[in-house]
Amino acid sequence: MSKKPNILIVYTGGTIGMIKDYKTNALKAFDFSQITENIPELEQLQCTIKSISFEDPIDSSNMNTSFYKDIAETIEVNYKAYDGFVVLTGSDTMSYISSAISFMIDNLQKPIIFTGSQLPIGDLRTDAKENLITSIEIACSQKDNKPIISEVCLYFEYKLYRANRTTKINAEQFEAFTSMNYPPLAESGVHLNFNEYYIHKPSTEKKELVVRKELVNDIVILKLFPGITEKVVHSILNVDNLKGVILETYGAGNALNTPWFLKLLKEAVSRDIKIVNVSQCPGGSVMQGHYETSIGLKDLGIISGKDITTESAVAKLMYLLKENLSLKDFTFYFEKSLRGEISDG
Ligand code: ASP
Repeated sequence: MSKKPNILIVYTGGTIGMIKDYKTNALKAFDFSQITENIPELEQLQCTIKSISFEDPIDSSNMNTSFYKDIAETIEVNYKAYDGFVVLTGSDTMSYISSAISFMIDNLQKPIIFTGSQLPIGDLRTDAKENLITSIEIACSQKDNKPIISEVCLYFEYKLYRANRTTKINAEQFEAFTSMNYPPLAESGVHLNFNEYYIHKPSTEKKELVVRKELVNDIVILKLFPGITEKVVHSILNVDNLKGVILETYGAGNALNTPWFLKLLKEAVSRDIKIVNVSQCPGGSVMQGHYETSIGLKDLGIISGKDITTESAVAKLMYLLKENLSLKDFTFYFEKSLRGEISDG
């Protein structure tokens, strides 16, 4: 019989790791080293579970690229010893964090499942237990002695998504995430059903894990709105040392085509600032040139984000900027799927 999978839980912070002190009513950090004592249901899973907590767990609103590096490093150091990873973060920026990790780790052959919860693990009506238990179950699911999942995913409220396709859409309901442009990879009901067709198939060649820890965060999200002024766009595009811009446009990638706006973009591109066109619509794709209001963008060297999410575009921009690519190469790699984050074609 093959050995039980080893799963490592990495707790970075967020609501999921909180329990209420019934004397003071205050929320305090949950001790993950006692996880099986606190959640005895975990004993029923056919795996061995260990956990690591960040020294100072944080609210995910305080996440930054240095914490991304810590998460990536924790996985790198423990990669050989474990068969799967469950990373717990706050849900607020989970789509940004997990998207970044998906780009930072290359040649992944094991599951990395991000999860969290809307209510603390000790609350009576908590969603934390189901999210955690099913994430662990997914991380240890194997077929023919190989993990079913070998990519970075996000599990929340009965659905497993490709992490870099997700967006947080609800601060109230347990169903906090969606993935508008890519179907769920698994759904949990009476059975845990994997949608195998949509799951990434790892290369059959054994390639070494590569972890790239350096990201460039001199970037900005410029969200268009009717009435945006030249003064505002000018000052954003002239931020000191700016390297990249996510231009959040309307519909299928349309923007105002007034001369001052196009001139400011042209100047920014000539200063080697990479500008990516991402739609404000959570579903659908940028199609530069489809409308007259986006032909100009394509001609200026604005990169199409196609159907990428803003969260994933931020991560991909931070990742690719480190490579110091020419506009032509940068465009080629940005518009192509690197981790399943964008639909090719
Ligand atoms: N503010 C919390 C966080 O993102 C919310 C959560 O844990 O879901 O850390």
